[in-house]
Amino acid sequence: MTGEERERYSRQILFAGLGEDGQERLLQAHAAIVGCGALGSFQAAALARAGLGRITIVDRDYVEPSNLQRQWLFEESDAAEALPKAVAAERRLARINSAIQVRGMVADLTPANVEELLGQAQVILDGTDNFETRYLVNDFALSRAIPWIYGAAVGSYGLCMPVIPGRTACLRCVYPDPPAGAQPTCETAGVLNSVTAVIAALQSADALKILAGRGEYVQARLTTVDVWAGGIRQIAQPLPDPDCAACGARDFAYLEGRRRAPVSLCGRNAVQIHERARPLDLQRLKAALLPLGEVRANEFALRFLTGPYEMTVFPDGRAIVKGTTDIGLARSLYARYVGA
Ligand SMILES: [Zn+2]
Repeated sequence: MTGEERERYSRQILFAGLGEDGQERLLQAHAAIVGCGALGSFQAAALARAGLGRITIVDRDYVEPSNLQRQWLFEESDAAEALPKAVAAERRLARINSAIQVRGMVADLTPANVEELLGQAQVILDGTDNFETRYLVNDFALSRAIPWIYGAAVGSYGLCMPVIPGRTACLRCVYPDPPAGAQPTCETAGVLNSVTAVIAALQSADALKILAGRGEYVQARLTTVDVWAGGIRQIAQPLPDPDCAACGARDFAYLEGRRRAPVSLCGRNAVQIHERARPLDLQRLKAALLPLGEVRANEFALRFLTGPYEMTVFPDGRAIVKGTTDIGLARSLYARYVGA
């Protein structure tokens, strides 16, 4: 460690739990952040300031004005230029800490690119907004024995949980299947920035422990926080379920792409998401989407206009997104408005 580094990170080095040895490890460490929204941008800033040697950020979206309320790294100019979040994050982090390596990857995490994007990481932080990506991260992390930290927030409520392969339960032990029906999202139910900060900070602390070689301090607990109603609760994480498809049977259906709702191009400028396992109450979905744009629904279909896109959703969960041929974008709109 150089004298400059010793000074820069002195308050962390003084903390007995880390010490100079812990800081040395952080300077050599590599973390990946999947999704650079509210959670991911907080995690990235926290880890960059802590002196993490290498940070990989994976995100496929662009900065929008409505992100600025809670997505800690971004500025008005990023939204005005509609910069990819991964690019805006990389630029901002270079100004926060020019001595570390930050790699911002504009990509939708898929079974085909997960090895390339996350394969080098010693820990993976969840900043995504959808279960499909989380199950993919869960499968990949288990297959490679990489710890990862699950986190989610919507409204005033959030939760987080570490997944340490070989030691704790995994995401599919706790949630064997994706939630059914339409789910509240930040787009439909809103979100307070304070809850995203709490959850991302807890995730970052666990990542720091693991990367500094202090993984034994990571508690196998599921933490829930409600910053509005009040209340922080922790319950013991269940033991790994021997019948779990992922960590028990090591059947990595999401990593192999078998559980991914197939998507196809349809027509000249539309993408179809062939989801069939998500029965939807279209009238309830309509009520949730009403404040966000033009929406019409009958018993057979719901049609929703958002910006240049038109989304038609069917009662079985299938959807057609018109106005794009970008499959990742169509998946992202589906996750935002129908639920993850
Ligand atoms: Zn499991």
